[in-house]
Amino acid sequence: MRPHEHVARFGTIDGELRVGGMPLSRLAARIGSTPFFAYDRVLLDARVAQLRAALPSKVELSFAMKANPMPAIVQHLAGKVDRIDVASAMEMHTALDTGIRPDRVSFAGPGKIAAEIRQAVAAGIIVEIESTTELARVEAAGRSLGLTPTIAIRVNPDFAVKGSGMRMGGGPQQFGIDAEQVPQVLQAASKMGVDVLGFHVFAGSQNLNAEIIAEAQRRTVDLTSELAEHLPGELRYLNLGGGFGIPYTEKDQPLDLDAVAENLHALVDDVIAPRFPHASPVIELGRYLVGECGVYVTQVVDRKTSRGKTFLVVDGGMHHQLAASGNFGQAIRRNYPLAVGNRVAETADDGVSVVGCLCTPLDLLGDDITLPPAVIDDLIVIFQQGAYGLTASPTAFLGHPAPAEVLV
Ligand SMILES: *Cc1c(COP(=O)(O)O)cnc(C)c1O
Repeated sequence: MRPHEHVARFGTIDGELRVGGMPLSRLAARIGSTPFFAYDRVLLDARVAQLRAALPSKVELSFAMKANPMPAIVQHLAGKVDRIDVASAMEMHTALDTGIRPDRVSFAGPGKIAAEIRQAVAAGIIVEIESTTELARVEAAGRSLGLTPTIAIRVNPDFAVKGSGMRMGGGPQQFGIDAEQVPQVLQAASKMGVDVLGFHVFAGSQNLNAEIIAEAQRRTVDLTSELAEHLPGELRYLNLGGGFGIPYTEKDQPLDLDAVAENLHALVDDVIAPRFPHASPVIELGRYLVGECGVYVTQVVDRKTSRGKTFLVVDGGMHHQLAASGNFGQAIRRNYPLAVGNRVAETADDGVSVVGCLCTPLDLLGDDITLPPAVIDDLIVIFQQGAYGLTASPTAFLGHPAPAEVLV
């Protein structure tokens, strides 16, 4: 998708990008400082509505909050999705503070320490165990608290998903328990005073190919159907993962959500509903829920020419938005969509590179791009910034102030 398509998603008003219903410069004046992250709740709500309309009604939506743990976002989404997936004790606290029912919170991620597991068991959330060590810690926590922990087994599948930006299943992995070991682990768990609800398979992240996602979901349902025969009771939790990607670069095309949904309708009707009447399939999404509603806004503080090349130097950079600089797992650096937010109606005929304010050539936000002519104080907007932004960036590097974050 091209930058002007992202401008169109947000809309324009008075020749400026519209964010939170107002021209960007007005929003910037209200916030009072740059850089900032702004998340547009109209777009956020529209994304949830789009998912609800497309997916089978039996599918539950879970928000993987590591994508954006800002409390206002988590609170807002807690009222709109069915579940929240957390990856640390701090995220667990943020999730529970929303008032969501604890049995609607799941805790995944490798390396859960005994203290975190104890807090999770005490709170009554679902612990997704990733190893037999974690299973033993859950059992110990349950025994000392006098509670029956509810758990799910995170399974490392015996297949890999191609085309993911980050692969997190198949082959040797630090994530989950290898599928072939699961029957044995279930047998051990059945003697332990823990309640095993079911399974979680998360095969990868940032996938834009509907056919590959559909194939992964079919194989996940096949695999978990086999494993369910080893469960002591009914299957009551079936987390199919997610991995739905969003378009970051010009050559990325948006995911065909309807194609993914069509496959899920078939899976629910043909397999899940008849075989597992007590399990609602869960689709767990981070980036796809929040990524596209967010912008990172930074101000031009210098414009300089070096040997024929023009640089716009902005007051933000990779310390707030590591991924946009190409340093968050990307093999090849490509520009994220970028616009001059207060000049979106003007012709783009100025060849520039946009760089951040850090003392490293890695702090590159737009390499040889064409923008409307921008001057000092103009607002440079980077799109697709609602996920893996601030909390996935090295904010302490160089000691610049933290950016504001607003849900508008
Ligand atoms: C990171 C993660 C997610 C979210 O991934 P997205 O690509 O942001 O949708 C979901 N589930 C698990 C287990 C994760 O680790």
